[in-house]
Amino acid sequence: MERILVSACLMGRKVRFDGRAKTSSDAWLAGWREEGRLVPYCPEVEGGLPIPRPAAEIEGGAGGAAVLAGAARVLASDGSDVTAAFVSGARGALAAARSHGVRLAVLKEGSPSCGVLSIYDGSFQGRRAPGQGVTTALLEQHGIRVFTEEQLDEAAAYLRTLET
Ligand code: SF4
Repeated sequence: MERILVSACLMGRKVRFDGRAKTSSDAWLAGWREEGRLVPYCPEVEGGLPIPRPAAEIEGGAGGAAVLAGAARVLASDGSDVTAAFVSGARGALAAARSHGVRLAVLKEGSPSCGVLSIYDGSFQGRRAPGQGVTTALLEQHGIRVFTEEQLDEAAAYLRTLET
């Protein structure tokens, strides 16, 4: 059975920067949980950051690949450099994925770790820009397909291709 890495906040875990969850009630996720497929993971907490914590954005709105290449930093709203924790959390996510044979992930859109199609632009003004979070970029660099929680029909179709 294919396992699926999933952002822990989507599964009701209160791991976000503001101490809350972003629980998804989507039927696909509920079904996959029932089947025992899900591997919940929060890269920021596993990378060593506390709950709650200041919001963070990738400098200049650069994508996660730029962070992994050492070309951009992740900064918290208090000005501290949290790049190392984000990269460590991404590596932990990849290790968790590999240990479960994961080839598919569902991650929370917009997050500087988990964003798939968009992230915040680094201005802390609430503006989004196209780009991936740090964990998403690392997973995709290693052949793991990542979908947002808004693309679960597509994720389900991809899962079917893996299992047929
Ligand atoms: Fe959710 Fe990912 Fe943010 Fe953790 S890092 S709170 S899993 S979006």
